[in-house]
Amino acid sequence: MKKPVYMDYAATTPVDPAVADEMMKYLTLDGVFGNPASRTHAYGWQAEAAVEAARKQVAGLIHADPREIVWTSGATESDNLAIKGAVGDRQDAHIVTSKIEHKAVVDTCKWLERQGTEVTWLDPAADGTISFDQVLDSLRDNTVLVSLMLVNNELGAITDVVAIGAELRKRGVLFHVDAAQAAGKMVIDVTSMPVDLLALSGHKVYGPKGVGALYVRRSPDVRIDAQIHGGGHERGMRSGTLPTHQIVGMGKAFSIAQSGLEEEVVKLEALRESFLVGLESLEGVSLNGSESRRVPGIVNLSFDGVDAESLMLGLRDLAVSSGSACASATVEPSYVLRGIGLSDEQAHRALRFSIGRYTTEEEVAFASSQIVDVVTRLRAVR
Ligand SMILES: *Cc1c(COP(=O)(O)O)cnc(C)c1O
Repeated sequence: MKKPVYMDYAATTPVDPAVADEMMKYLTLDGVFGNPASRTHAYGWQAEAAVEAARKQVAGLIHADPREIVWTSGATESDNLAIKGAVGDRQDAHIVTSKIEHKAVVDTCKWLERQGTEVTWLDPAADGTISFDQVLDSLRDNTVLVSLMLVNNELGAITDVVAIGAELRKRGVLFHVDAAQAAGKMVIDVTSMPVDLLALSGHKVYGPKGVGALYVRRSPDVRIDAQIHGGGHERGMRSGTLPTHQIVGMGKAFSIAQSGLEEEVVKLEALRESFLVGLESLEGVSLNGSESRRVPGIVNLSFDGVDAESLMLGLRDLAVSSGSACASATVEPSYVLRGIGLSDEQAHRALRFSIGRYTTEEEVAFASSQIVDVVTRLRAVR
């Protein structure tokens, strides 16, 4: 069977072959398989050196000090560690987030809310961005943390974390940013971006699944409580034997992302443009999320008069995402699209197309012609 064209890079990316090659060297007897925490022999020292080299590569992409990188199992864990770790055992804490964050942030904040933490849930603007004023208005005397994503995974919209972070810094409120969808898609520079905690994932950037990192600022010194206890790895913030091969893979992936960033953004902008030009003959198509403040790889579109489920059935040759979660047999519309003010009906008409490193002009041309055909056909039989 011919595989469908992959247009779901925001869900995950294939591992870059250069990354897979590198990872292979850290698994078997003839490779570097030692425990990076083994201090008594060369097996351990070599593994530790590999972990530290990867730490530099990951830090490099965001212009951090390697000592500010804490390895985790992925952005989900990084978000949990940042948010729960910042609140710690405070009884009367208040935190601020938005209604369109990733589930890793939403559900962590909901859990804290049940434990007694006060949570303000900001409503984004129609274009999927959160404004500086909204954040400022939400702050209270007991606000300990604001958590907002840099790039929204369903819309591709970019939040202005620089302006927000500067104000939070003045007021001594910690700022956590989920940058899982931003890494490798735009410049992230923590020397000019006043964030305290920043979550990263390996598998959204052509690295392996099951590895991530949390940036924890050293100056000013940010303290968070560990959520996983054990041998005191990662300066006590995250215990557990480090998965050398995963970490080496993420490091390699991030170094490739850094050296190819500009070129990749230009290429994806061009592919996005071709994709949208290919849809121009179709009436009643609207873009969800910001037209201008966005990354190139994510295109969320609503099609008048066509529901996403039927459209996806028709688009069998494309692997795309509806953003809807199938919760117990009923299909719930995306909470992100509802969050930017779309009705249930409008949200049910949306699909997310996400392109990446291996997407070609032929693929996007094929995709748009398929969409034109299927939407036209579905509208005709209405
Ligand atoms: C994918 C993603 C996550 C979760 O990352 P994992 O590494 O899969 O746990 C968190 N936040 C955003 C914005 C994401 O896109």
